[in-house]
Amino acid sequence: MADLSFINNNRYSDSERELVKRALVMAEKAHAGQKRLSGEEFITHPIAVAEYLYNLNFDSASIITALLHDTLEDADITNETITKNFGADIAFLVEGLTKLKKINYQSNISDKSKNEYIQTLKKMFFAMAEDVRVILIKLADRLHNMQTVQYLPPIDRQRIAFETLEIYAPIAARLGMGDLKGQLEDLAFQYAYPTEYTWLKRKIKEKHKDLARYLERTKPVVERHLTDADIPIISIHSRAKHLYSLYQKLLHKDMNLNKIYDIVAMRIIVPDIKSCYEALGVIHAHYTPLPGLIKDYIALPKPNGYQSLHTTIFCEKGKIMEIQIRTPEMQNHNENGIASHWAYSEGDKKNIKADTQELGWINRLKEFLADVGTEESFSALKIDFFKNRIFVFTPKGDVEDLPEGATPIDFAYAIHSDLGHAIRGAKVNGKMATIDTNLKNGDVVEIIKGKGKDLKPSLDWLKIVRTAQARHHIKSHLALTRANRKS
Ligand code: MN
Repeated sequence: MADLSFINNNRYSDSERELVKRALVMAEKAHAGQKRLSGEEFITHPIAVAEYLYNLNFDSASIITALLHDTLEDADITNETITKNFGADIAFLVEGLTKLKKINYQSNISDKSKNEYIQTLKKMFFAMAEDVRVILIKLADRLHNMQTVQYLPPIDRQRIAFETLEIYAPIAARLGMGDLKGQLEDLAFQYAYPTEYTWLKRKIKEKHKDLARYLERTKPVVERHLTDADIPIISIHSRAKHLYSLYQKLLHKDMNLNKIYDIVAMRIIVPDIKSCYEALGVIHAHYTPLPGLIKDYIALPKPNGYQSLHTTIFCEKGKIMEIQIRTPEMQNHNENGIASHWAYSEGDKKNIKADTQELGWINRLKEFLADVGTEESFSALKIDFFKNRIFVFTPKGDVEDLPEGATPIDFAYAIHSDLGHAIRGAKVNGKMATIDTNLKNGDVVEIIKGKGKDLKPSLDWLKIVRTAQARHHIKSHLALTRANRKS
């Protein structure tokens, strides 16, 4: 019998552990005789998914679901069997995951199957809005499939790699799960873009070696500066940028590795926020920072909740290098996102409370999906929900989270549809600007309304706006006006 030795005896209650064992027995029976393409017993797959989730502190219901997630379709097990043995909650999760298996992504598919794909995506996001564990278990499932993807035929490998890059990695990123996102992308990179992957892998090898040597020599010097200034340090280490995100950055930097300063960055972990800023001050007292590259993601976190101070300095021997300063809590959140702050209330294990910011995104996604479904909306979906996000402020300091390239029109519609219809001008950071200006992160935008009541949007705005929300409001307002005129 396969074992679950990774489960620690005091994490779950006796009855929970009993249920986990029962799920393993059921899964083993269901998958008996089945092999993966690697030649391993199939049961190794659900166990690997369960173990990954266990290490991220998931509850026992998620572990049970992970063990059972492939049993519904593959074997003689029904929703009723699962409900009877494990309850409706787990049956819902297993069912949700089973539905997701029908997703079959291809980038050059026909309109018909593209529409089907969108419908399945819709299902996924609805299930996710209902219980976010569905998508988290799905992501763990995908991670293990990517880790063993080399056994699949090349054509499937590539399809799964693209799907991972276009759908699953962006969801992980949006949920703040930086570590999972990086792993998924790097595994997919080599199958999606084999030539580029091989090229970068070869080029980066020497560079990594040099940087590791340099950082080893530099670390004690920086550490000394900080301890001399009485800054408490938890640890200093270096982190190498994930390969795929390095490749993405290279595309904007003429493929020149010398233009990238965070191939390996120095990471300083200090106990609290005050020490973060003090450490930054000490670093800048010893090394000149490059202008424009000091980023305060503590005061202004990234839309997915990422927090850290970043600075790029002329370090020892004049070498340009990025330094990242953060607390252990920020570190945990940056790596594990939504999974880093499960709050289990005893006696109510079902009710997982995660950060409202991340769940807020899921709810907006759900609303968006409720009234779309056409081919056009697929690209809108990708732009709206997966593109880099920016923060834009009202003069009062309220914040809207928009996709990169959004305009004052998008901003106005994000606040209220009436404000959107009424926009005739805008002030960006106190200066007059046109309503098609591309907004940047941190811009303060004041919307200037037209005079009179019942102002109408212009048809031309459809060419300018970037968010599906704005497009939707403009279109429905124009359609309504037309209908009224006819009647
Ligand atoms: Mn699976």
